[in-house]
Amino acid sequence: MSQKFIPLSVPNLKGRELEYVTHAVETEWVSTGGAYVDEFEKKTAKYVKAKGAVSCQNGTAGLHIALQVCKITKENEVIVPTLTFIAAVNPVKYIGAEPIFMDCDDSLTMDVDKLLEFCETECSFMEGKLINKRTNKHIKAVLVVHVFGNMANMEKIMDIAEKFNLKVIEDATEAIGTYYLKGKYKGKYAGVIGDVGVYSFNGNKIITTGGGGMIVSNNEEILKRAKHLTTQAKSDELYYIHDEIGYNYRMTNLQAALGLAQLEQLDTFINVKKENYDLYKEAIKEIKGLTILTFKDNIRPNYWFYALYCDEKYPLNRDEIIQYLLSKKIQSRPIWGLINDQRPYLSSQTYKIEKAKTYLKHVINIPCSSNLKKEDVLYVIECLKHPEKV
Ligand SMILES: *Cc1c(COP(=O)(O)O)cnc(C)c1O
Repeated sequence: MSQKFIPLSVPNLKGRELEYVTHAVETEWVSTGGAYVDEFEKKTAKYVKAKGAVSCQNGTAGLHIALQVCKITKENEVIVPTLTFIAAVNPVKYIGAEPIFMDCDDSLTMDVDKLLEFCETECSFMEGKLINKRTNKHIKAVLVVHVFGNMANMEKIMDIAEKFNLKVIEDATEAIGTYYLKGKYKGKYAGVIGDVGVYSFNGNKIITTGGGGMIVSNNEEILKRAKHLTTQAKSDELYYIHDEIGYNYRMTNLQAALGLAQLEQLDTFINVKKENYDLYKEAIKEIKGLTILTFKDNIRPNYWFYALYCDEKYPLNRDEIIQYLLSKKIQSRPIWGLINDQRPYLSSQTYKIEKAKTYLKHVINIPCSSNLKKEDVLYVIECLKHPEKV
């Protein structure tokens, strides 16, 4: 039998998706209003223990709104990570603000020591505002990404934010379901610790609506504004009165029907991902030159993406591994190119980017779908045990 292709991360729609979507179609509620939208918002908020949730078209749109509800304007700067997906940072530019790129630590999330050092040495704190000495601009927020379902160091980030009066925006697009097991934020979910958080339901994420996103917060004011801005900023339903420039960022009832069915399976998906992760980790430990990066031990991650670290002791380098796996019908890919190296950001300010460069050279994501079978994982491991140049 010929080997089937093993994709990196694909949807898993074996729950009540078809039933709910069929119901939406049968009742002809397929557009931006409908009971599934409300229910999906309520159930997501409940799941992550947030005061409320506002659905939107995708994670990128959610982040665009998140910046606006934090009152970031074109006069401001926002501290962002460089080792992440570019959609985390582009919304900063959509509103005309400027990003300042920060390094990662060994968890691949923002290096909080460098963050603090940057605020203390490269900025001055005057009249409640953090001012960038280089540009004289007001740095108003820090945007953190919970990379691959790991948790950024929210304890330190919240302390730094409080000290320098920064808003905290959590790009939790990859981390729905991740929460603290201990410490100050025990029981708190990624996305619901800072001022505002955003999830993504893109097709490669742990749960999907095809395309979709959700803004969460514990702040009523922020939730109200997020709803307002995502729904054309309509202040009167009947007479079409609009008090500012809004967006049509609403999720459709069809997407929400999918989302609701997916949310019902989130815990199951996390369990499967954990099992496969453990299987990979134990076996790969025995292969010279390869390791699976771990998640922090004070959290329960959602195990979204697995990061394989390859060092010089392995006979193949990053690109050779990717080619080799592909020849074995296994999809993998390098971690994202650094954002400060991308053309639109070449002139942006950076601060001591070091570790991100190393991880870029050594990290590969390997198949992690929630419908990945044990035998698939064993096959990937077997291939990694017997590397060949292709
Ligand atoms: C997926 C993702 C986004 C964007 O989400 P979309 O729903 O695809 O727009 C933003 N940031 C990060 C880190 C992501 O992984």
